[in-house]
Amino acid sequence: MQSTLSSISQTISTKMLSFYPEPQNNNSLVEACPHHTYLRHCINLAKLSPPRPALFRAGAVLVSRKLVRGTDDELYNDDRLLSSGYTMELVKSPHAEQACLSNYAAVHEVPDSEVGDVLPSEPDRTLVMYIGFEPCVENVGRDESCVQKIIDTRKGGRKGVEKVYFGSLSPCSSDEQPSARQMLGEAGIEWQLVEGLEREILAVATEGYGNNKRF
Ligand SMILES: [Zn+2]
Repeated sequence: MQSTLSSISQTISTKMLSFYPEPQNNNSLVEACPHHTYLRHCINLAKLSPPRPALFRAGAVLVSRKLVRGTDDELYNDDRLLSSGYTMELVKSPHAEQACLSNYAAVHEVPDSEVGDVLPSEPDRTLVMYIGFEPCVENVGRDESCVQKIIDTRKGGRKGVEKVYFGSLSPCSSDEQPSARQMLGEAGIEWQLVEGLEREILAVATEGYGNNKRF
């Protein structure tokens, strides 16, 4: 397992080095690589959720991002923050990704199940979601898993969410099959594990988890 994880990380790390453009100048307000900025935002959102013995704390952010004309390359200087969510922000949608999509649906006055109908679909832009850690793959109560919710945004041939960035693999058992990464890939959604904040993300995610002591 350890070697699998490190090989994934290594591959991504090498890929990322060539992927990120250099900053245009020192005064630029927009980071060349905004991934850590958004993942830090996810961490801060996760902290809004009180530690609980049976839930990991996460945050999620939905962004509309401009593409280099005629390509799938992302530009980082014209992002639009569309929605955000965190664990237990909404009781009906307890997970961060669910809350993020549910909040967007609420603003556009449609049921959660129809959020894919109201998400923007523009030819020169793409929808990306940042999540502290890899989305869950098991149903949440009677509701679908977070990875399925993300995949469902593409129902009916819609573009929906096209890329997911996360800062850590799932803190749950790694024996889940298929993994969220596999499901995303099969649904045509790109994913990327962003290195560098995993320890902080997992520390916040797991705070209080498994603590069932009564005082
Ligand atoms: Zn979830």
